[in-house]
Amino acid sequence: MYLLTDKSSLDRSVISAGLMGGAAHIIFTGLVFIILQRRRAMLEQLEIRDWSQRELERQVRLRTADLMSTNLRLAQEITERSRTEDALRSAQAELVQTSKLAALGQMSAGIAHEINQPLTAIRSYAENALKFIARGNEETATRNLQRISELTDRMGRITNNLKTFSRRPEQDNHPVDVPKQVQTAIDLVLETGRAGVTDIALSHDEHVRPVIAEANQLTQVFINLINNAADACQNISDPKIEISITEREDRVLVKVNDNGHGILPENLPKLFDPFFTTKPFGDGLGLGLSICYGIIRSFGGTIRAENRPNGGSSFIIELRHEGIGEDTAENSLSTAIAGPDRNFGQTTTVLNMHSDQADL
Ligand code: ADP
Repeated sequence: MYLLTDKSSLDRSVISAGLMGGAAHIIFTGLVFIILQRRRAMLEQLEIRDWSQRELERQVRLRTADLMSTNLRLAQEITERSRTEDALRSAQAELVQTSKLAALGQMSAGIAHEINQPLTAIRSYAENALKFIARGNEETATRNLQRISELTDRMGRITNNLKTFSRRPEQDNHPVDVPKQVQTAIDLVLETGRAGVTDIALSHDEHVRPVIAEANQLTQVFINLINNAADACQNISDPKIEISITEREDRVLVKVNDNGHGILPENLPKLFDPFFTTKPFGDGLGLGLSICYGIIRSFGGTIRAENRPNGGSSFIIELRHEGIGEDTAENSLSTAIAGPDRNFGQTTTVLNMHSDQADL
């Protein structure tokens, strides 16, 4: 059977079928293209991620090696520093000892004078006592013997103080009574007969808690400061040295004041430098204050100097109390330097610079 139809409608069907086929082909090709593109992008991303990870690992390895070598260097530096510190400590101990011996040398003339005086007096008292006994005057002879005994006590004190001073310091710090050490320093300076200063006044709170220090070294600091103050007062008409010891919440404050020539402002920052001296050649080594600085620092304390408003200078030492941890003390010392002094219940002793003459 033949079905006759219009040719144009058949052509349209053929064309539309062709177009649809073409469109389907284009869509299919497009899809394949997109899928391939995506795959390639994913592969590229994976490659980049792989590369980044490898790069990261490489950098971590480099950084770790870097850190390890820095660590090693630091460990070496720490060892080196602690070795240097040990050497410094022992050099300082040597220096302290040397300077003590040098100070003893300088003081020897004064010491000889101080010992000769009572010796001469003892001889006279003894000779007179013999005469009084021969005359039967026992009362005066006994009084003379009493004086001899007092004078030998005095000489004993001088030699004891010198023995203490020249002894090598103990290794460890202990609780130390500051007023007692200051008194020992004053006695020693007085016994060696420093000329020029008429009195050294010591005032302190009734109760001063012990500080952590080494007694002999602390005494040496005070001796250096008193001797310097005496030097500064040499050409002053009414020379005065005043030492005050006060207790604050967490520390003990010692001030050594004088009314001497004071310190030139440009010298203040150099004062504690080793070998800094303004004294004539032969009189000063410039080691005293640097040794004081080292000693006080080794006790965890501070020392500083300032000029007083009405002339003269003031050396201020702050030391930690017994029972305060080193860290706490360091912190509190560095933060609590300013502030008014609190003096309560003060005891005052005035010591004459010149010793009693033997009364014949
Ligand atoms: P030296 O006494 O051998 O000079 P120091 O280190 O003890 O060495 O002192 C260094 C310098 O500090 C002194 O030369 C002096 O100029 C100054 N000085 C120290 N104490 C005082 C003081 N109480 N008054 C004025 N100047 C001082």
